[in-house]
Amino acid sequence: MSTENWATERTEDFMEVRYRNDKTLFTGKSEFQKVEVVQTRWHGKMLLNDDLVMLTEKDEFVYHDMISHIPLFTHPNPKTVLVIGGGDGGSAREALRHEGVEKVVMVEIDKMVVDACIEHIPQTSEVLLGHPKLELIIGDGVKYVNETKLKFDVIIVDSTDPIGPAQPLFGPDFYKDVYSCLSDNGIVVSQGESPWYNVPIQESMMEVLSSQFPFVRMYQFGNLTYPGGAWCFTFASKGLSPLKDFDKSRVAESGLKFKYYTPELHSACFALPQFLLDSVEKFFKG
Ligand code: SAM
Repeated sequence: MSTENWATERTEDFMEVRYRNDKTLFTGKSEFQKVEVVQTRWHGKMLLNDDLVMLTEKDEFVYHDMISHIPLFTHPNPKTVLVIGGGDGGSAREALRHEGVEKVVMVEIDKMVVDACIEHIPQTSEVLLGHPKLELIIGDGVKYVNETKLKFDVIIVDSTDPIGPAQPLFGPDFYKDVYSCLSDNGIVVSQGESPWYNVPIQESMMEVLSSQFPFVRMYQFGNLTYPGGAWCFTFASKGLSPLKDFDKSRVAESGLKFKYYTPELHSACFALPQFLLDSVEKFFKG
């Protein structure tokens, strides 16, 4: 009998991907989901929520670079950032690298995710231990955007798939509130799912955004551990375009170094393959 352990991620009822699990570091069941951190053989530590891979140490930089630096380098002077979800800390970490950013508010619903990452994945979570510009709120992002009086230049929706507490994060009421708490030049970027496996979710998200925002696009990146490799973010703003309003020189001036993001990719990631355009281009605005 084999004694090998594997972390297994299942996509609906037709695909499984297995990662060799050398040691389970944490496993727990919160009010919201099952949370696990495992030491994999090759991908470093891995966070799984409800048996779905949230991140691995090996490739988390791809997702976190692309969810944060695209809006933060499109906005000419972002000072305030709101992260919804993102309990591992990776999105907050990247936002806080921008010197001009004065405040990051992060609203994560599940304290267990935050605690497990603080204990086992310092690569993304170190920032959560107390950064002077970070306010960490354990609470529902849906409620937060409905109630806050603050305005944000950039909102990053770093959420799980639309199940459980993340479901409303994909709906029209949430984005109505997001629109209200964005500043005049505000941008919202959201986890936009797989162009292979989640087409109906993508279409519905883009429809919601295009009914509320004057500028809407989708962008794509290639990563290692989300099923299918290709993954997307949605981009919506009160007017700013990531292509026309992007000043490349700000990237060099920032002095920041990246492992995935480049000024060339900033524009190139908005060029989508035809099969994806066929489903989402009708929702582009601006
Ligand atoms: N990069 C990841 C992915 O796409 O697989 C997402 C990672 S991050 C850990 C997602 C987080 O969103 C989870 O920790 C989850 O608890 C949180 N979340 C889900 N619904 C939420 C809500 N309504 N408000 C705040 N956080 C929420």
